[in-house]
Amino acid sequence: MVNERELVCDAAADPDRLLALQALDILDTPGEYAFDRITELIRLIFGVEMGIVSMIDAHRQWYKSVMGLPTQEAPLDGTFCRYTLQLGRPVIVPDARQDARFYDNPHVAGGPRIRFYAGAPITTATGEVIGTICAIDRQVREFGERETAILMHLAALVMRELELRQEASTDVLTGAASRRAFKQEAGRHLALAQRELSPLSCVAFDLDYFKHVNDSFGHAAGDQVLAGVVRAVQSGMRQTDIIGRLGGEEFTILLPHTDMEAAVAVAEKLRQIVNGLHFSLGAPQLEVSASFGVSSLAPGDDLESLLSRADLALYQAKKCGRDQVCRAATPDEPEKTNRRRVLVAGQISSDAGRDAYDCTIKSVWDDGAEIAVSLPGAVPDRFNLLLRGAEEPRACVVTRRMPGSLEARFIEA
Ligand code: GH3
Ligand code: MG
Ligand code: MG
Repeated sequence: MVNERELVCDAAADPDRLLALQALDILDTPGEYAFDRITELIRLIFGVEMGIVSMIDAHRQWYKSVMGLPTQEAPLDGTFCRYTLQLGRPVIVPDARQDARFYDNPHVAGGPRIRFYAGAPITTATGEVIGTICAIDRQVREFGERETAILMHLAALVMRELELRQEASTDVLTGAASRRAFKQEAGRHLALAQRELSPLSCVAFDLDYFKHVNDSFGHAAGDQVLAGVVRAVQSGMRQTDIIGRLGGEEFTILLPHTDMEAAVAVAEKLRQIVNGLHFSLGAPQLEVSASFGVSSLAPGDDLESLLSRADLALYQAKKCGRDQVCRAATPDEPEKTNRRRVLVAGQISSDAGRDAYDCTIKSVWDDGAEIAVSLPGAVPDRFNLLLRGAEEPRACVVTRRMPGSLEARFIEA
């Protein structure tokens, strides 16, 4: 028999797989009901404690939806799902203590003391495994052919949901542009603004305490509120502004020919509009509010950083008490010339190769890179970066640490 333990090594770093994952633009997006519904079904159907819908990039397993676990991601090392990824078929472990692959796994011997695991790969039409769904429990369990078939169908439903998102240009519920369509359109406006040297701004907003709305009034009522909020917000926008639903109840508006001051004024107007809405979805009357973050195009900017600055400002607005508008600082970082988004596997090493961490390179520019790694704090200031497929490592110095990633500048070795 093949020793599966030894098989597990390389699938995570496969460039075609990472390309397929990148094309879906799903990593680190907000939670969404379509996927929460699958994890809920996993728990109900199989009667297990934990259900997960996950995407797997080069170094980590990231949960698009998770129930029964407090974390949002895990380093890929030591996960059960890397076996499912590697084998490309369902993996069923009735009792992890009796399984040569898992008996000494830290999550079995300690931690949540996992006993049962059933995972199925999420596979694209071209055969790339981009993630997994799984059912996990602290009890030993039997899982027959019928259960395995159900799990595979659920994995296929997840893939279908992801494909539908790719195909759609508008979000059915709210009429806002889909994530993909919004980014395409925004990219065109950004290029134009850079050519014409005209201002361009971005307003991100997220409803406050929206989980309460769902919990108290039901999901259908939550849907009506979302649709109503977008309708109201659109009434306060110009014809040429574009609103996109980037995920969950998070929206972004692109404002061409608008500088920071004007965009903040628009955001404030929209905040008041949302705040003034009343929904009669049964007693008591329901009121909502939203928090806003505003960013403006800076020289050498790209769409990703414009959006992420708006997001950061939105996060700030949440932290400062919600129902308010925050503006993003203009980036004071050195220009990142020829920055391009990639998703390739790499390895960070230091101490003459004695310490090594798997990582995912998220973007590179002429003299640096942004690198996703599970413990950015553990990476020393100077390290060597080996890109998958490259022969020579590049010497790097850390220029910024963020949650889950760091930025580094290439230096002479
Ligand atoms: P916060 O103020 O921090 O934003 O709190 P919140 O409760 O709004 O938290 P968060 O933004 O994280 O949660 C969003 C919730 O919105 C969770 C998710 O189930 C729900 N949601 C996402 N998409 C939909 C949808 O299409 N319809 C409904 N009804 N709910 C949705
Ligand atoms: Mg919210
Ligand atoms: Mg949200």
